[in-house]
This record gives sequence, structure tokens and C-alpha cells, in this order.
Amino acid sequence: MTVTQQRVAVRPEEIRRHNLSMLLRHIHRHGEATRAELTAAMGLNRSTIGALVADLVALGLVTEYVPSGGERAGRPSHVVAPRADGPYVLAVEVAVERISIAVVSLGGAVQARRVTAIEGHDRRPQAVVRRIVDDAAWLAQQLPHSAWPVGVGVSIPGTVRRRDGFVEHAPNLNWRAVPFAALLAATLPAQLDVQVGNDADLGAVAEHQRGAAVGYDHLVYLNGSVGVGGGIISEGAQLHGVGGYAGEIGHMTINPDGPACHCGSTGCIETYIGEHALLRAAGVTDRHGPAAIAAIFADADAGDARAVAAVHTVAVWLGRSLANVVNCLNPQAIVVGGSLAEVVRLDRSSVEAELDRRAMAAARSGVQVLLPGLDQDSALIGASELAFQTLLTSPDSPVVSLAAN
Ligand SMILES: [Zn+2]
Repeated sequence: MTVTQQRVAVRPEEIRRHNLSMLLRHIHRHGEATRAELTAAMGLNRSTIGALVADLVALGLVTEYVPSGGERAGRPSHVVAPRADGPYVLAVEVAVERISIAVVSLGGAVQARRVTAIEGHDRRPQAVVRRIVDDAAWLAQQLPHSAWPVGVGVSIPGTVRRRDGFVEHAPNLNWRAVPFAALLAATLPAQLDVQVGNDADLGAVAEHQRGAAVGYDHLVYLNGSVGVGGGIISEGAQLHGVGGYAGEIGHMTINPDGPACHCGSTGCIETYIGEHALLRAAGVTDRHGPAAIAAIFADADAGDARAVAAVHTVAVWLGRSLANVVNCLNPQAIVVGGSLAEVVRLDRSSVEAELDRRAMAAARSGVQVLLPGLDQDSALIGASELAFQTLLTSPDSPVVSLAAN
């Protein structure tokens, strides 16, 4: 509680709502816990926790059970768990070559998902909206009757205006000035809150909360597939910039005389470490897409000289790119996701050597290069976190309560 809040008289009802939100956030983030553990973690007394848990149970958000089979003496503490068959969000990741849509319940578990490969016209905003609406309806049929949606979160590989989900530019989807959140909200049947974020920003949040970077409060998530983007967390908070466009590491110029980039510039980092760069380095001109990329990695893993050299070339440029990131932001950890994670797996020594050579020593010594803890789901789980914010902030808001009945 801030000093300002302490000076004014805070009504008991406000305190209760604040505590309710804090408790639900804790259960969402850390999973099930006993009442005793929650009492210790929240710094509230036992009877207050009991009353708050009862409220969350009545709202249909959590469930309580007595652990069975325990041989411990004394009265067992009730376990409080997020309801897997209660509120859920639709998390959507629009990537260049696929759309993934998942049902994610409180606690962050993916209950169901559908993945569709896309190309050409499938990438147009209206086609993407149609796909999401159809898949959402199909997924809803797979869920228990007790489940109800509380929001939609969408990850987009482009610059997104955070406050209204307006996509300024998603170069690899060929989108410019698309009011995507509004388009989707207008087409979804229910009055669902739609939030849209940048894929790497969302990946950073997810890795920070549930993945490889739990406990790291200075973190960069670099997401590299066809496009390359970054999400930055500084002092535990996301760095958005004034419009929400911060983190476009893939479009930092690394060679002004380099290849043309989709963004309109030349020699961007993306043109050296994105998937097209890997294909170019491997001499693959007749194929592209996930299968072609996977084939290069498989060949490199098997020791094929050309594939090994191609991965090495990208690994060196990745190390140079990360050195710039380290010099600029001094993070504790850089999580490398997307297909770039495979580059790190196959040739970490080249990435680390370039970091050693080019990053300032003090900043270099404090940084770890990590692989994602959520594998390929970082952006998707990040989208779910975005969609849960309204419920987590106001667990007993009238809209949510009404929907639960
Ligand atoms: Zn660019």
C-alpha cells in the first residue's frame, strides 16, 4: 500500500477487493496451495484468508479440497486450487505461418488448442478474424458446461498500439494500420474484452512469470522466426515506450548496406538472423516455411557441413545482435525463443564467443543466455496473461459474476 493510500481513509470493502485480487493473482501465478501457505504468503490472518477463499469459491474461480491419503497427524489444511473448468481465456498467436488458438484456464494451463497453417490470403486481417471466431466456437464445444470465457488475448508479430489493440505495422503479415482488436471484438459473438499485444512483449511476460526467467527482473526476450522482435522487462516491469512500440530489436540497423528488410529499411538485424537469412546461408532457394527450417536444423544436427556452416553464420550474427542488446540494456538474462532457440542449442559457443568479443565486459559478465521455459508457447501464454488481467484485477466485477451464474 502506498503512502498516499495510507493517509486517506480506506473503506473495508476496498481493502477486501484489493485482497481478493491479490489472492487470486497469487493462485493464478503459483498454482494450488494450502490455506496455511496462502496465509503465510499473503501476510494476512487465517480467518481473513478463509473468508477471501470462500468468496473466490462462491464466484466459481477456485475450488477447495481436503488432501486425501495423508498420514500426517492433526487437522489437514484445505488446498485451494484454480478451477480448471471455470473461467477461461482464449489465447491466440498469429504467426507468419500459423494461427494457434488455445483455451487457457486460471493457473495458466492450456486446456485445449487448435493450430492452423496459413499462407497467402489466409493472412489477411478479415481471414484471421474469421479463423479465430470459427476456432473459438469449435473449442468452446470441447469444454465442460461450467466453463465460461472472460477475455481474449492476441499476439501479433508487429507493432501494436497497446491501449486499443491497433496494429500499426506487421511487416511479415503485410498488415498496415489494422484496428485488429476492434475488428475481432465486433465479430466475436459474446461481449468479450479483446486485448492485443506484440508477440515478443508477450513472450517476455510469460517467460518472466512462468518460464525460464522466473526471478530475473532485468530481462530481454528475443523472439526470432521469420521476423525478429524483442520484449524488454526492466526492474520487473515491461518497457513499452510512449506508444507501446519499444523492443523492435530485429529492426535495429546492423549494416546500412545490407539486404532489404520488410520494414522498408536495409541491413536490419532481422535480415541477418531471421529465417530467410538461415535459408540464404544454407543455399536453400526453392523452399521456405517451418519444414524447410526444420530440415536445415536436422542436417546441422547430423553434421552436414553446409547446414552446420549456415547455422554458424546465423549464430555469429545472433551473438553480435545480443552484444548490442547487452550494451544497451544490461539485462540479467536474454531468453532466445522461436527458431533462434534452435540456433543457440546447435551452436551456443559461437553466440557466446561473439558476446565475449563485443559486449562491454561488466555487462557481459552478468548476463545469461537462456532457452525458453515454455518452449514454443511463450507468446501464446503471454497472450493469455493479457486476457486474464481484467478478471485478476476485479475478481468480483459484476460482469464476471453474472457470466458465472
Ligand atoms: Zn527492418
